[in-house]
Amino acid sequence: MKCKKCSGKLEVHRQCRRVRMRCTACGQEYQIHEVASELDRETEEILERYTAIIYD
Ligand SMILES: [Zn+2]
Repeated sequence: MKCKKCSGKLEVHRQCRRVRMRCTACGQEYQIHEVASELDRETEEILERYTAIIYD
């Protein structure tokens, strides 16, 4: 997953009961639904652990 702004690497970032994608380079955060169509397999597997809480 790459950041739309800077092409930095996005990481799954858990905040309390919410999960976001956050850029490790510029700090931009994305809601899961914003990047849902672009999720790669690695990211999907991480998100599957949070299935119950990602759709806030
Ligand atoms: Zn970025």
